[in-house]
Amino acid sequence: MEIKKVVVIGSGTMGSGIAAHLCNANIPVTLLDLKTEISEQARDKIHKSKPPLLLDKSKVNNIKVGNISDNFAEVAEADWVVEAVVERIDIKQDIYEKIFKVRKKGAIVSSNTSSIPIKVLSQNLTKEEKKDFCITHFFNPVRYMGLLEIVKSENNDLDKIDSLKKFCETELGKGAIVCNDTPGFLGNRVGVYAMQIAMTEAFKMKLSVEEADAIFGRPMGIPKTGIFGLYDLIGIDLMSDVLKSFIKELPKTDKFHEVAREIPIVKKLIETGYTGRKGKGGFYRINKTDGKKIMEALNLETGDYSISKKINIKTEKVDLKSLINRDDKYGKYAWSVISKIIKYASSLVPGITKEFNDIDEAMRLGFNWAKGPFEMLEEIGVNNFFDKIDEYKNNNFLESLAQSKNEEFYGERQKYTKIETLGKVKKTAISVDGNNSAQIYRFKDYNIVEFTTKANALDYNSMDALKKATDKPLIIINESMQFSAGVNLSYTMEFADKGDFKSIEKFIRYFQETCKHLKYSDYPVVSAPSGLTLGGGFEVMSQSNFVASHTNIVVGLVETIVGLVPAGGGCKEMLARWLDTEEAKQDPDYAPLKVFNIIGYGKTATSPVEAIPMKYLKPEDKKIMNRNSLLEVSKKILEDNRDFKAPTEIKFKLAGNSVKEKMIKILEKLYNDKVILEHGMEVGKELASVLSGGDTTIDKTLSEEDLFKLELGAFMRLIETKETQDRIKHTLATGKPLIN
Ligand code: NAD
Repeated sequence: MEIKKVVVIGSGTMGSGIAAHLCNANIPVTLLDLKTEISEQARDKIHKSKPPLLLDKSKVNNIKVGNISDNFAEVAEADWVVEAVVERIDIKQDIYEKIFKVRKKGAIVSSNTSSIPIKVLSQNLTKEEKKDFCITHFFNPVRYMGLLEIVKSENNDLDKIDSLKKFCETELGKGAIVCNDTPGFLGNRVGVYAMQIAMTEAFKMKLSVEEADAIFGRPMGIPKTGIFGLYDLIGIDLMSDVLKSFIKELPKTDKFHEVAREIPIVKKLIETGYTGRKGKGGFYRINKTDGKKIMEALNLETGDYSISKKINIKTEKVDLKSLINRDDKYGKYAWSVISKIIKYASSLVPGITKEFNDIDEAMRLGFNWAKGPFEMLEEIGVNNFFDKIDEYKNNNFLESLAQSKNEEFYGERQKYTKIETLGKVKKTAISVDGNNSAQIYRFKDYNIVEFTTKANALDYNSMDALKKATDKPLIIINESMQFSAGVNLSYTMEFADKGDFKSIEKFIRYFQETCKHLKYSDYPVVSAPSGLTLGGGFEVMSQSNFVASHTNIVVGLVETIVGLVPAGGGCKEMLARWLDTEEAKQDPDYAPLKVFNIIGYGKTATSPVEAIPMKYLKPEDKKIMNRNSLLEVSKKILEDNRDFKAPTEIKFKLAGNSVKEKMIKILEKLYNDKVILEHGMEVGKELASVLSGGDTTIDKTLSEEDLFKLELGAFMRLIETKETQDRIKHTLATGKPLIN
């Protein structure tokens, strides 16, 4: 079965997301709705979406649009028809009747339903039709969420399900997990239970909204939106509907019912229009007082709002063992929530899937958890878990584990895919070395470095690990959301606060040396970025010999936004890339001015398609739809480069003062137009002094070392200013930069 053309019916949030992603995979797709205007508007929304649903916005018109009356003939040509209309059984069944009348023989028809079982959706279909009907449950936003649940029934042609899975894995880059027709499938069944237990335990233990979110968040390897923040994000009313559907579908004996009871304060929020971020607010709200936006949080006991408090539970890393053993209410809450999630998830095996690790993967890919329930159990340790847990009646999985007490119960990871993923390889690789910021693994004849800090921010230890790992061919890769958000600014500010600028200088020097080492060591280095690859993250990537990039990459040099300039070789690498163009051969100022514009504005690219014209990525860098494949592709690069020779060092010819003056003119105009303020001018001038080559003329040759020195000098002068320090502090405190 080959999928060459797809029709998506229903152009709402999900239908348009699916169509956009098919367009990303260069698959011809038609998007139909009740009226053509609706699908046209959906296409406009796709074009404007943020974060962008398209890898290449210029391809938006590759998505054909139409309506289900005049353009239904499109269905007859499709190899796969995806239904993504409103969650109504009658409407969906009506559509299937029409589709099956005209579909191409053997074409797959699937529904994107999140809650209606296959047996209900397909009850009017013939046996032959049922063979080709399944559920393809995508998650929102489709481009970014890794999970796709393919729900099959006993009537399905399994070869066809298998080829659909392969298509979705290879072409669409999804973590496609085939599962049984049970309510909420895998992700939502466990994910919504987890949300409910996190919420109900917070009420029971009298934790504030902020306290619960501070625990059921980063310390547990869960996105920082936490539980109440996530409720607000999804919509409190929508969650209430989701719960109702679970209550209806699940047998009375299911533990889900215990956590799905209506909570009076939640009911009141919905009734008064506090449905979350889309409404007047929810558990959090923004209150405007004297023109200032103030974040407030709901008091769960009184129902009143007051200024939201920052809770510092002092954990930098995910460390479940320490978290659940804390002798305070946070430890008790964490244990209660984690243990109940583990109990519930394990009670579902083998009913919803025989592979427990499918549930873990669904939680990672569908809810962005760092670890699923069974991996949490593995981290806590089987003996520790059973020492702490009170009861686990009627739970076959836990009962048998309690007998064996096998700490190695987990076995292979990510069984749902044949791809040799980092997750699988790490299980068998030798852990060679490591520190607080990175781990080094040896697998066969190459090394892997995985950064392990929050957002994979880089510090001295990260550099240490990279340097040590260059004694073999090296792949820099990780499983978390971000490749690296850049240099660890809190680490840098700790020195700045003490006035210890020498230590900052030493660190930046070490960063430069390490990057140079990556580039020129005897063995090839491959970086495999996904997610944020910013600042220092870009510098590591761009000074690796090869790149295998996920298509969901956000890449750029953003240092100027916090009042700094790139100093780990970012200016140097960008100059080298732009100097290597035809235009630069004609005009010596072309490259420095281009780079000045890109770095000056802190421009980022949100896909390889955007990154190549800016030269953040090179055309020869590999671009990969499926994140799981990054390691295989990186390995292939190493295999293809067994006779690797380190590149020769780059030489630079730059015009010095004459091009710097051009840059200063640009800055003066921006200043006069009030686009930048005084400190913006200072940062711009420092950037100009680096990119112009400093005290040089076009006939002189500069080395990479000369450029490193210029970067370091500019960086140090800026970090010593109060204005830059204020900008960094503001960014660290709010997660957002100060403008200008
Ligand atoms: P939506 O309300 O955003 O869009 C539904 C679209 O269907 C609308 O554009 C509507 O005009 C169109 N429509 C209605 N009747 C139609 C008909 N007879 N023929 C053609 N088009 C018709 O809904 P959504 O959020 O995109 O959800 C679509 C499906 O995906 C639902 O089954 C939902 O349960 C499921 N789902 C939603 C999400 C999510 O996060 N929104 C996630 C996973 C699955």
